[in-house]
Amino acid sequence: MPESPEVQALVEFLDGRVHDRVIAELDIAEFRIVKTRDRPPASLVGARIIGMSRFGKHVGFETSAGWLMIGFGRNGWIRWQAAGEPSSDEPVPEVARIVFDDGAVMRVVDTGDFLAVTASVADAPTDVAGIAALGPDPLSPDFSREDLERALGARRKQIKALLQEQASLAGIGNAYSDEILHAAKLSPTVHAAVLGGGDRERLYRAIVDIMGDAVADRRGLPPDRLKQAKVAAMAVHGRGGEPCPVCATPIVDRMFGGASAQFCPHCQPEHAGT
Ligand SMILES: [Zn+2]
Repeated sequence: MPESPEVQALVEFLDGRVHDRVIAELDIAEFRIVKTRDRPPASLVGARIIGMSRFGKHVGFETSAGWLMIGFGRNGWIRWQAAGEPSSDEPVPEVARIVFDDGAVMRVVDTGDFLAVTASVADAPTDVAGIAALGPDPLSPDFSREDLERALGARRKQIKALLQEQASLAGIGNAYSDEILHAAKLSPTVHAAVLGGGDRERLYRAIVDIMGDAVADRRGLPPDRLKQAKVAAMAVHGRGGEPCPVCATPIVDRMFGGASAQFCPHCQPEHAGT
């Protein structure tokens, strides 16, 4: 699942290529992705791209005719074909494609078993369901300890699930929540309510450092290398059975409420409250 560091790198990659370009063609191969039936994406044909922005895990194309917002869900991404580059013969599960006036092609793909990519056209990003409700973004320079405090409150919710709740904090998913909790030395199952001042401070630092380092590391990579770079950078996520990079204890892989978590039982003990 793309999370905010990869989406941020994608937005910067696209911004350098589509800024001031005109949308020459916009074809939807899978109409279920379109969430604004009154404003079909095809209404943007002929519009000029003013700029690119990220909203949590969503990408926003600001155009002269409104915003095109794309959500990637679990398995969505884009394939970029530069102007003049031959198209690949590799079959891809394409759900939409945009052809720009210089001949570059952006394909939106969804490799999941069920479709989760979304596309919406709106006057403002906040008109799109889910965008207005996004919580504070840890990649924003304004993200503060108070923002985290408001997200945590005294909630009796497991911290791993809370970190992934987009209305609490924007942009964190399954992988980075594992990495953040490992860096913060917190068990994925601890409830926000029982975290002490020291826990909260470590959690804040871990969120800012893990997300900030990830975006610095991914920046400049082409879209087709971002997923691989993310997987390679993980300390505990997806590494069940491998040694913890801090203490060499085998990393545990466990299911909690239908979602998996990987953590170090030594670095991340069940008990909290410091
Ligand atoms: Zn460890």
